[in-house]
Amino acid sequence: MTEIIDGNEVAQEIRDGLGDAIATLEDAGVTPALATVLMSDDPASETYVSMKQDDCEEVGIEALDIEISPDADAQELYDTIDELNGDEAVNGVLVQMPVPDHVDDRAVLRNIDPAKDVDGFHPENVGRLVAGNARFKPCTPHGIQKLLDAAGVDPEGKDAVVVGRSEIVGKPMANLLLQKDEGGNATVTVCHSRTDDMAAKTRDADIVIAAAGVPELIDGEMLTEGTTVIDVGVNRVETDTEKGYELVGDVDFESAKAKASAITPVPGGVGPMTRAMLLYNTVKATAQQHGVDVDLP
Ligand code: NAD
Repeated sequence: MTEIIDGNEVAQEIRDGLGDAIATLEDAGVTPALATVLMSDDPASETYVSMKQDDCEEVGIEALDIEISPDADAQELYDTIDELNGDEAVNGVLVQMPVPDHVDDRAVLRNIDPAKDVDGFHPENVGRLVAGNARFKPCTPHGIQKLLDAAGVDPEGKDAVVVGRSEIVGKPMANLLLQKDEGGNATVTVCHSRTDDMAAKTRDADIVIAAAGVPELIDGEMLTEGTTVIDVGVNRVETDTEKGYELVGDVDFESAKAKASAITPVPGGVGPMTRAMLLYNTVKATAQQHGVDVDLP
């Protein structure tokens, strides 16, 4: 029987655990606060930001909502980041990507105080992750580690194939799996758009993590019996339905499920974990900034 890994359930456990940590912070007189900065009128970005704010409020994290016109000067965004960096009441700063073309996204990430960089994309935090001394693990790959743990899958000694080499999912995922640490110690292969014969790699894998942004790229033919399959992809595919589209993962769920020992669905797999781990990093940042010991889930 294939286990369907329920991301909503695991995310709820994380949120419950964070409730205890937030209560400890409150006892020390601190309320965690996350500032989200939106410089876009893209409806998807607006939705992501408002979901992040709702998530914060649900667990007792204060959410500051800052919006900058997409036509504004890049300097206005940098000045806003500087202000938030200097504001002691703000513990986490997140700039919703993508920013408009006239803004240098790397400069944006560099300007965020690394201690408040709850996405974990500041070069200092990327370096620390690679060096095995992470301050904040990026939310999506960290959430996937939690899902594997919840499914009883320890990557130690296993062959893991990560499909995708982006800065936000593929690369940090490969790094986390490689670390000499809990949830790591795997033998990691990273596939990407230039990989020859990807199926040969995925067929050899104990764990496949698909983060390519290509609908149903991985199917059952590319897997061996007993593989654990984590589907990160969220792709809009046009349909004849009223909504006009449906969300499809990077994995062909039915054929992969027939081979997998455990698999995540889309939606309801990795997505809720990404959201929960942002709350986790905000609580962790707050505890670090105030020198309060908290138990993190
Ligand atoms: P990206 O476009 O930045 O990177 C995609 C990577 O996949 C690239 O490294 C590319 O080399 C590789 N790739 C593309 N086509 C390929 C192919 N045919 N074969 C092998 N590799 C291929 O994307 P991303 O930001 O890493 O996101 C990947 C997917 O995950 C997207 O669908 C995105 O929406 C989704 N996503 C989901 C969450 C979540 O929380 N569920 C979070 C982040 C991203």
